[in-house]
Formats: sequence, structure tokens, C-alpha cells
Amino acid sequence: MQNKKLTIALDCDDVLFDCNEEAVKMLNKAYGTHYSKTDIKTWGYTGSLLDERICFFEDPGFVSNQKLLPGAKEFVQQLLSMDAVKDIVLVTAVLPQCASARYQSIIRLLPEINPDNVVITCNKSCIQADIMLDDGVHNLDSAVHIKNRVLFDQPWNAKEDRYFRVKNYEEFIHYVQSNNPMF
Ligand SMILES: [Mg+2]
Repeated sequence: MQNKKLTIALDCDDVLFDCNEEAVKMLNKAYGTHYSKTDIKTWGYTGSLLDERICFFEDPGFVSNQKLLPGAKEFVQQLLSMDAVKDIVLVTAVLPQCASARYQSIIRLLPEINPDNVVITCNKSCIQADIMLDDGVHNLDSAVHIKNRVLFDQPWNAKEDRYFRVKNYEEFIHYVQSNNPMF
């Protein structure tokens, strides 16, 4: 076993932060609908009223109020405690008007993360790391400098089969521990 230290790039929305589930709840409240996150079958626009949830993503107030997903904080702490892990970089694609809100949320909710390791960009091709975890297939596609790209299971990526898929944080920890090709 090599003693290689890993840099891991983690996406924020729908990987660490609750995004679409909260947006769907707000949509249902506004329109009296009964959608659930599992109704989002594709990335982006679906051609239905569900698309109205995307408007929330343009609002810095929405971004400020986003909560961590259950277990996300412990997940980050566990990764940082692993001998194999050198660093975590958070890579988050928010609109320009939401950049400050996202950065401040990360500092407030995840003080474990080095503030220097927060990258706000919609262009994930510029990221260099050993492993990337993201729920957006287009983000994994563009992250050409990262050898180990892992898909975080969400309804909108269910049909994707080109990437190693993890259904939860435990599976990703196991991937880093046991299946990491760096070792
Ligand atoms: Mg995401």
C-alpha cells in the first residue's frame, strides 16, 4: 500500500447541502402541488411546473437558508480524519449573485473546511483532485483532470452508468477506504 494522500473534491448542492428537496417543498407550498424530489427525472428543465423550482436557485436568500443534508457534517469530518485524505476542496456552482451567500454558508456550517479550499465555479474542468464526488453528470464529464469521478445518486442521474455510483456517504467512505485505485 502506498502512503498517498488524497485531495477530494466535493460538490455542494444535493451532495452536502439540501437543494432540490427544499426547492420542491417551496414549490408545493407556492402552487399547492404535491411533487417530490423523485419526480425530477432529468437535470435542469423538465417541461413541467417543476421547473419553477429553478427560480429559487437565483435567490441569495434561498442559498443562505439551505441546510446541510443529514449526516453531511459528520461525513466531512470522517473524511478529514482518514489517513488517506490530505484535503477536501468544496466545488460549488452557484450563480454570481449567490456566490457570497454560498461562501458564508460554508464557513458557518462547515468550519472544518479550510476557507481557502472553496471554489465557486460552473466550470469544473478547472479542478484538480484525486477524487471528485458530484450528482451532476455534466460536472463529472467536464472534470477531465480528475481520474476518479464518483456519481452521488439522485433521481436525475438514475440512468447514468458510466461512473461509479454511491447511494450515500457510507458508500463513498467505503470507496475511498477500499476501492481507491491510488492504493
Ligand atoms: Mg450538485
